[in-house]
Amino acid sequence: MNQSPNNLIFKPPSIAPNGVASNGVGGLTIGILALQGAFLEHANMLRRLGAVPVEVRLPDDLIGVDGLIIPGGESTTIGKLANQFGLVEPIQQFIKANKPVWGTCAGMIFLAQNVGATGSGGHVIPPRLGNMEITVNRNAFGRQVDSFEVDLELSFATDQLFRAVFIRAPRIETNSQAVEILARLTDGTPVAARQDNLLATAFHPELTDDNRFHDYFLNMVKTSITSNSKQGEVVVQK
Ligand code: GLN
Repeated sequence: MNQSPNNLIFKPPSIAPNGVASNGVGGLTIGILALQGAFLEHANMLRRLGAVPVEVRLPDDLIGVDGLIIPGGESTTIGKLANQFGLVEPIQQFIKANKPVWGTCAGMIFLAQNVGATGSGGHVIPPRLGNMEITVNRNAFGRQVDSFEVDLELSFATDQLFRAVFIRAPRIETNSQAVEILARLTDGTPVAARQDNLLATAFHPELTDDNRFHDYFLNMVKTSITSNSKQGEVVVQK
């Protein structure tokens, strides 16, 4: 694609700091990749939990960010735009610096090491980060049931089932031993997983009122800040 970032029309920055913790003091600063997709919903959920959401479109936007969410949307578009905007390498550095990254749906595809060639309409293999040791298939639940909701048991919050919204969702086909499965469908298909500082969900927790995944991610971020500060600050390179 020859399109330069300047030719793209973006919405004006719509995530304003909540006025309480504009520089992240008193709240964790969480970047949300805001190239395309469902980023506003994540921001609303984060604000409700006292975190400060920041839209990330360019490498400099990652400065001062403690954790990053890659939202759902269209993985081919997100991947292409991330490449064009020079974000892939800075996000790799961010991950190497032990900062948590969470991909939801298309975001999970963006994190995946491998993308299988099967799945309805999912034959295109999008550009991606590839850090998480999972193989996913795009649009793997078929066109006729490409959106559905289901109650999941979460390994980290067993008090209540989690109502999960799947929209043309990918599916985790295989994972390495390094990956911990946090939730499965009743047929055993993994739909939420973690590998160290990486979190992936095939569904959209930001489209529900249940904040347990956002809370889980914020706890990953808190833990990483504590352990990074023990090891000395790691600077994210641009
Ligand atoms: N089907 C989309 C893709 O393959 C993902 C859908 C979503 O993020 N809700 O990129």
